[in-house]
Amino acid sequence: MPVLELRGVTKDYKLGKTTVRALRGLDLEIEAGEVVAIMGPSGSGKSTLMHILGALDRPTSGRASIESSDLSQLKERDLVTLRGRKIGFVFQTFNLVQTLSAQRNVELPMTFQGVGRGERSRRARELLEKVGLGDRIKHKPNELSGGERQRVAVARALANDPEIVLADEPTGNLDTETGESILALLKELSVRDRKTVILVTHDPEAAAIADRVVRLRDGCVSSSARHGGEGAGTPSPGTNSEAGAGREVASAASREPQSGARHADEVGHA
Ligand code: ADP
Ligand code: MG
Repeated sequence: MPVLELRGVTKDYKLGKTTVRALRGLDLEIEAGEVVAIMGPSGSGKSTLMHILGALDRPTSGRASIESSDLSQLKERDLVTLRGRKIGFVFQTFNLVQTLSAQRNVELPMTFQGVGRGERSRRARELLEKVGLGDRIKHKPNELSGGERQRVAVARALANDPEIVLADEPTGNLDTETGESILALLKELSVRDRKTVILVTHDPEAAAIADRVVRLRDGCVSSSARHGGEGAGTPSPGTNSEAGAGREVASAASREPQSGARHADEVGHA
């Protein structure tokens, strides 16, 4: 059973009298423990897709479910709870609170979930250790480098031990080396902790850590290829003439045996 499933998802944004259709009937299945890279030109719908995958927004039509619960059936309050418990976000712009220390930033999502003070503090320090910032817990964002801030953002995303980590261009503002260390960290979340990791990226290096690369074009999946090239990139003959042709390719790819077994092995060695 996929952890995330989208069926025929469309998303319209209304701007005065015009409507922008950002997603146009998108199908996607993501299995637990997968690392998926979402790629595609600017404006192709990547961020919109991430918002829907992360239950920050609902589709205009079609179905989006997280672990089989249909988001359109949930009350707003339940959606907020689901998001807080199951999903961690890492944004390109970090979204850290400038007046709070690294530790307090990481504690914030736990505060919203009602975690007690002692536990919050213990866990925030543990997470900052884990991302290599054990010696920076008292620093505020403006006292940290770009890469360190992004690490705080990753630690914060993990605060409530989410099953799904979503990262929208997590390396976009970073130099190559720092970017690589963030990618290594995201990969480790999948391999060691069996989290599902979905990242938007323009960077082939980032795509290289993924089990699967999903490409978007004009609000549709144009291809979905497992890492290693199997079923690579090109839509099958006969389907590529229509808009959204890649959809069949996408669902075919997601029906292939998943990487779960391999992850289970790796977890065993960790
Ligand atoms: P990407 O992340 O791939 O660059 P987006 O998902 O941000 O693409 O945007 C997809 C399309 O939807 C674009 O044409 C964009 O202009 C439009 N769009 C995104 N967000 C909004 C919004 N809040 N209001 C109106 N149009 C939007
Ligand atoms: Mg975007």
